[in-house]
Amino acid sequence: MFFVDFPRQIVIGILVYLTEMKKIGIITSGGDSPGMNACLRAVVRTAVHHKIEVIGFYKGYEGLIDNDAVNLTTTSVSGIIQRGGTILKTARSARFMKEEGINSAAKNIKDLGIEGFVIIGGDGSFRGAIELSKKINIPIVGCAGTIDNDLVGTDFTIGYDTAINTVVEAVDKIRDTAESHDRVFVIEVMGRDAGLIALRSAIASGAEALLVPEMKNDIDILLKKIKNWRSSKSSKIIIVAEGDEYGGAYKVGDLIRKTCPEFDVRVTVLGHIQRGGNPTCMERVNASLIGYNAVLALKNGHKNEMVGIINKKICFTPFEKAVKHIETLDRDLLNMIEVLSS
Ligand code: ATP
Repeated sequence: MFFVDFPRQIVIGILVYLTEMKKIGIITSGGDSPGMNACLRAVVRTAVHHKIEVIGFYKGYEGLIDNDAVNLTTTSVSGIIQRGGTILKTARSARFMKEEGINSAAKNIKDLGIEGFVIIGGDGSFRGAIELSKKINIPIVGCAGTIDNDLVGTDFTIGYDTAINTVVEAVDKIRDTAESHDRVFVIEVMGRDAGLIALRSAIASGAEALLVPEMKNDIDILLKKIKNWRSSKSSKIIIVAEGDEYGGAYKVGDLIRKTCPEFDVRVTVLGHIQRGGNPTCMERVNASLIGYNAVLALKNGHKNEMVGIINKKICFTPFEKAVKHIETLDRDLLNMIEVLSS
């Protein structure tokens, strides 16, 4: 029996070896977000565990076009789980928006014998992935890495939790001075197209009001609200998403000064501090889970999908659907702010 089965097992083993993925590529792309390193670490270590070689490309699609590659091993990703930013660096690549750039990237992937690809980035990066998939016939999976939380198919993107915690910490500090001087503070947070950073940080910091791109014609309501603020209200914090229709915090500050000259209005733009810093515990866990499952997804034949977590379960969403900006602002949370900030 042994002599009959032995060669058969060897043949099966060889077939399995030949069909298994042996080399994958990875980039971090678009705006950096805390947790990208944790995700990268998970991808590399899971791949190494499954005897898959990992080639990283520096600066997102730029490095892919220039073949600026590095072999990533278990030790390459040592000591990075707690670090913000990305050790692979990232970029917004104008060259990848052109056919020539995509062709160069595809050629480099083919020449290196890469059989699967992981992209850690936001909606733009996944739009790039859709274009890349038209040029190469290998599976690509995406890990949602953006502070904006604006992707369909995951409850929280990698970077969002840390970013909102950074905002809340900053607003807590600003509130001390707002209360001491009896000032109105208009604080601008990131969010060109989405008010999700503004929404959650406004709730957690106890802000009195917020303006977000998803809501239109709300300045009059805000000004009326300010006029009617009870005199005993010692803190007056207004959170504005940068993409709000009134042009950001400085413009909103000017409008309030004109309408309510009785208030001492100050403006703070939080800017890039929202991208940096050590990822929170939640971020590191989610990023690790997503990175780990990205490699399993490639092994299991997933193609052109984003790995996400919904209700604590890993799920997969085609890139085309993940990048569709459907309105995701929770109206219940908006209504709750109205009640709680009275
Ligand atoms: P963030 O959410 O942090 O802004 P992102 O991934 O959305 O991250 P983008 O700058 O929008 O960041 O996109 C990253 C890169 O993806 C772009 O610089 C570009 O190289 C590529 N990209 C975006 N859209 C396309 C597209 N339609 N075709 C090809 N490449 C694209």
